[in-house]
Amino acid sequence: MAEQESLEFGKADFVLLDCITMEDFMANLKLRFEKGRIYTYIGEVVVSVNPYRQMELYGKDMIEHYRGRELYERPPHLYAIADAAYKAMKRRAKDTCIVISGESGAGKTEASKYIMQYIAAITNPNQRVEVERVKNVLLKSNCVLETFGNAKTNRNDNSSRFGKYMDINFDFKGDPTGGHINNYLLEKSRVLKQYQGERNFHSFYQLILGAPDQLLSSLYLCRDPTFYQFTIEGATCNDFPSSTNDKSNFKAVVDAMQVIGFSQEEIGSIHQILAAILHLGNVFFVADGDVAEVEDKELIHYIAELTSTEPGCLLRTLLHRTVATGGGDVIEKGHNVKDASYARDAFAKAIYERLFCWIVGRINNVIEVKNYDARIHGKNTVIGVLDIYGFEIFENNSFEQFCINYCNEKLQQLFIELILRQEQEEYRREGIEWQQVEYFNNQIIVDLVEQPHKGVIAILDEACLTVGDVTDIMFLDSMNLKLCTHPHYTSRKLKAIDKTMAFNRDFRIRHYAGDVTYSVEGFIDKNKDTLFQDFKRLMYNSVDPVLRDMWPEGKLSITEVTRRPLTAATLFKNSMVALVENLACKEPYYVRCIKPNEVKSSVLFDDERCRHQVEYLGLLENVRVRRAGFAYRQPYDRFLLRYKMTCEYTWPNHLMATDRDASKAIIDQHDFQDDVAYGLTKVFIRTPQTLFTLEHERAQ
Ligand code: ATP
Ligand code: MG
Repeated sequence: MAEQESLEFGKADFVLLDCITMEDFMANLKLRFEKGRIYTYIGEVVVSVNPYRQMELYGKDMIEHYRGRELYERPPHLYAIADAAYKAMKRRAKDTCIVISGESGAGKTEASKYIMQYIAAITNPNQRVEVERVKNVLLKSNCVLETFGNAKTNRNDNSSRFGKYMDINFDFKGDPTGGHINNYLLEKSRVLKQYQGERNFHSFYQLILGAPDQLLSSLYLCRDPTFYQFTIEGATCNDFPSSTNDKSNFKAVVDAMQVIGFSQEEIGSIHQILAAILHLGNVFFVADGDVAEVEDKELIHYIAELTSTEPGCLLRTLLHRTVATGGGDVIEKGHNVKDASYARDAFAKAIYERLFCWIVGRINNVIEVKNYDARIHGKNTVIGVLDIYGFEIFENNSFEQFCINYCNEKLQQLFIELILRQEQEEYRREGIEWQQVEYFNNQIIVDLVEQPHKGVIAILDEACLTVGDVTDIMFLDSMNLKLCTHPHYTSRKLKAIDKTMAFNRDFRIRHYAGDVTYSVEGFIDKNKDTLFQDFKRLMYNSVDPVLRDMWPEGKLSITEVTRRPLTAATLFKNSMVALVENLACKEPYYVRCIKPNEVKSSVLFDDERCRHQVEYLGLLENVRVRRAGFAYRQPYDRFLLRYKMTCEYTWPNHLMATDRDASKAIIDQHDFQDDVAYGLTKVFIRTPQTLFTLEHERAQ
């Protein structure tokens, strides 16, 4: 319960509302947004509404205002949560994490940057050189990752098209000594194609518009994004403010890469790889009898030079694939135009994805906590910051949305697990009278997606493993057979009453955040994510060490490649399971971001859209649990140890039968009876003010 502001700004903590109804909740949220109060608490959860304008909230003075303070001493702010996570980490040696969620454009990435800036600002008072270096790399990494992983979409001009979890490591002094970034599922299909009005990743436009003339010509590029298939759509929607910034951003990103420690050669290779991808997009095939031929051979020379490969090898790889026959022989099979185009696309996507992962890996190399350091400095605690894609419902939802929405189901499950269920279970265990709060447990949807054998991913994998031409429709039929009775699954094809409807290609999942209809088109392809081994070998044999580094499995010869790689969905599922396990063992802090409207307006609060977000984020349940519950709890012995000096009956030692009785004496002496409950092993305090007063008395 934050410092009380004037009532005209609404309640700073939803827990303080007179009635916990949706109407009251929304009225408070709206009032605060209109008054420029974009942050509001639910206990220790920050609810943030994107202001879509620059706020005077993040200056140095503000950092000082929040530094070392308790949550309830100041108005709600991201800084307060960052400080709370930092204090828990420093004082109690707890690993903590800050989970930022919300839909596209709600302000997650901005929030994560403010949090990192705050942590950077309050640490390293002694200006240790190594710590400054680590902080600098952590801050600069944002700009580099955004260039390669963000794009303008119809929802957000700077939309993160990948998930990011960053661990910051701290030494015993509480200074950052290193970090690690995990990236999740880059939306690589964007390299090839963008929806109307959207752009490819920023990196391409920055190169075309920002590279100096000499660099541009050495890459055989022209300064016109409409010339390249991969950037033409984005080039026609350049009303976007950042497009004018592409030029200056190019320089900023090169500078950031230099600060991080990328060598000149590495930066050069990155530009060459980007240019090679752009040229690859302009490679077209024509039929020469049954097989494909490249239309414009000059492009092959450019791409070969930029990837440090032989033009002849490159051409062969684009037009053929090597197949091992049953007898152990190896033959080359020519592609037809369709297969060649498919292979080119897969290649372009794969190079970009590997480039992105390589950049993340390179940053990690620079900030990795060396074992040696950890041994010397002993304790090493972590704050994790998660900025991952929010729930997505588009007009056309495909494999990517399916993965993203599954990720959100997993995170919601974690939220339920940590905030709602554990809280309620603790009260039951401690014998505290407690009114059960009803909430929707989405485990059933998580199971629908990830269960072995009968979950959507298992069925998809099974379809992908089947020999022969398995179509998306066969995958749909298989799901319809196995999932038709599941309460959260439907498919119009199942209910087809006439032949025309039988051609339906979609299925619908009732997610916790709403119903989403997915088109099965492309699921099999995207899940298999096939890239012919020939390309991997080509890249591995490149003279460019950066490219070579990205394709280690290219060293296998065709007869050695036996193991089928894991599918895209299974890889994603595994990474989500690992992420949730990692978060679950940390003390979590939550930032729940809300997007006030669809038009990026700083004044419009779209009631219906906001209400929907509040509903699916489970914020009302969150308030109910919080309000029915107690803000603080401590085992009796710890409570006594800390506050026994505030009561004549307990100082210096109490003579009562139990610690519980002694704790009660302290509470009674201060007249806090109404605010406290006594559990089996712990004392529970409802409002932070009580604790605040006790702390104050202690200091007297
Ligand atoms: P996505 O899931 O698409 O990556 P996101 O939740 O990360 O979306 P952001 O990129 O953080 O969304 O925010 C979108 C835009 O909203 C920002 O580019 C910025 O213009 C504006 N914005 C967000 N938060 C703030 C803030 N605290 N102050 C001012 N503007 C903000
Ligand atoms: Mg983002």
